[in-house]
Amino acid sequence: MENKLKTSKNGSAGSKKAALDFSSGWNYDPSPESKDHIRLEKKYGLFINGEFVKPSSGKYFGTINPANEEHLAQVALAEEKDVNDAVKAARTAYNKVWSKMPAAERGKYLYRIARMIQERSRELAVIESMDGGKPIRESRDVDVPLAAAHFFYYAGWADKLDYAFPNRKVSPLGVAGQIIPWNFPLLMAAWKIAPALAAGNTVVLKPAETTPLTALKLAEIIRDAGLPPGVVNIITGAGKTGASIVNHKDINKIAFTGSTDVGKLIQRAVAGTDKKVTLELGGKAANIIFEDAPLDQAVEGIINGIFFNQGHVCCAGSRLFIQESVAAKVIRKLKARMESLIVGDPLDKNTDIGAINSKMQLEKIREYIGIGKNEGAEFYESSCSIPSKGYFCRPTLFLNASQSHRVVQEEIFGPVLTVQTFRTVEEVIEKANNTPYGLSAGVWTDKGSKIFNMMSKMRAGVVWANTFNKFDPTSPFGGYKESGYGREGGLHGLMGYVNLK
Ligand code: NAP
Ligand code: MG
Repeated sequence: MENKLKTSKNGSAGSKKAALDFSSGWNYDPSPESKDHIRLEKKYGLFINGEFVKPSSGKYFGTINPANEEHLAQVALAEEKDVNDAVKAARTAYNKVWSKMPAAERGKYLYRIARMIQERSRELAVIESMDGGKPIRESRDVDVPLAAAHFFYYAGWADKLDYAFPNRKVSPLGVAGQIIPWNFPLLMAAWKIAPALAAGNTVVLKPAETTPLTALKLAEIIRDAGLPPGVVNIITGAGKTGASIVNHKDINKIAFTGSTDVGKLIQRAVAGTDKKVTLELGGKAANIIFEDAPLDQAVEGIINGIFFNQGHVCCAGSRLFIQESVAAKVIRKLKARMESLIVGDPLDKNTDIGAINSKMQLEKIREYIGIGKNEGAEFYESSCSIPSKGYFCRPTLFLNASQSHRVVQEEIFGPVLTVQTFRTVEEVIEKANNTPYGLSAGVWTDKGSKIFNMMSKMRAGVVWANTFNKFDPTSPFGGYKESGYGREGGLHGLMGYVNLK
């Protein structure tokens, strides 16, 4: 790929000075990923009992590409009757096939699904970027490989549950209802389906309204892998469809990833029933830079933590804390790096920040930017250009923010970073923990002892040290406080899907 120098304002294109100065405009030639190999149906039915069927109401809704507002496909709207059909199929498959099958055989199906995700990885990555707006670099290098890795990992556990829980009698729960959000559509489906199946449960899963396509592609893979009908059912719809799953009497477990507000509704709905629940909810992670940190790496970690993926990450490092002695330096480097970020076509391999997932989400982010300005924090945004069509937002900072600001306390779920400073370890721990959330945090320092001290005092499910947003199927993930409960990933991820005696 060839780098081209844009003519800078003083006409110094091609000069050594211009070449070293990012703000004077290094430009990459467009490098769009091909869409030629993508096969999308005009209309998708509901995946129930191993086949795509029409919704009982006959109603469909559209899903669009948020980067250009183009219509991609029609998907079925599942209503209560369809939820009943899906749960019935899952129950029958559980009773007659899946809970009786030797565990090693269950594992073989999971391995097959993992391999098929790998085989179709290009197609899945492109569709993920088209339907949700995330840069192809992320869907290609993170979402899809991690989705396959989760199936591989849990395939390995399927026939080793007695070793996972020694001296306990392990049994599956039955039918799991799973509801996932729009920010990691395929990956969240993998996080939910793989451990459930490995432990011997069957599944009814609902993807988010704006990003149903990779879950439907996964349904095709599951069908092509020959998984017995009814073991996995994937039904599309809106919040109401999700609520019908939550309230269904024949479901034994609800696994939900999404907003804290809906998580609270779910908690209320299942209170007094014997349904098991795991909730992965919102976050407002602190990313803490100490004066002894490798500052250039830390700046990359800050950028990765909040701007890649448009800040559509529940564990995004959305609150930055910089030790006072290096604050000016870090902010200067951060602003310079923000200037070099490319916002635009998610299918372009050079794009750092893709499209905001939906118009509604863009409006929410804009509203928060307005709130931040009114609260008196110092507003700064990159001067980068953004496409005129589609939903885009420039990377944004709120400097000199204070603990009481709403932009510091509330989850924005966009490329907006609040910046605060601190002097002592005690001060930053108090500030970082002063949030209703507790999903993740980041610490940047040269001292191992400081890392261990911070880790023991941060009220967050994951604390990354000198890195950010790193995931592995072997490692459990989940929150404290209003970020939910239960863990996904690793051995802990199996616990939500088994009875232990
Ligand atoms: P959301 O509105 O809570 O939606 C999540 C899922 O729940 C979607 O499939 C949604 O369907 C469905 N839903 C909506 N109302 C429901 C109800 N009353 N009962 C049952 N299901 C219902 O969240 P979102 O806006 O899609 O996603 C963003 C949020 O998810 C953020 O707050 C983020 O922090 C959180 N998140 C957390 C994690 C984590 O691991 N902790 C991961 C990703 C995202 P529709 O989309 O069709 O409305
Ligand atoms: Mg879409």
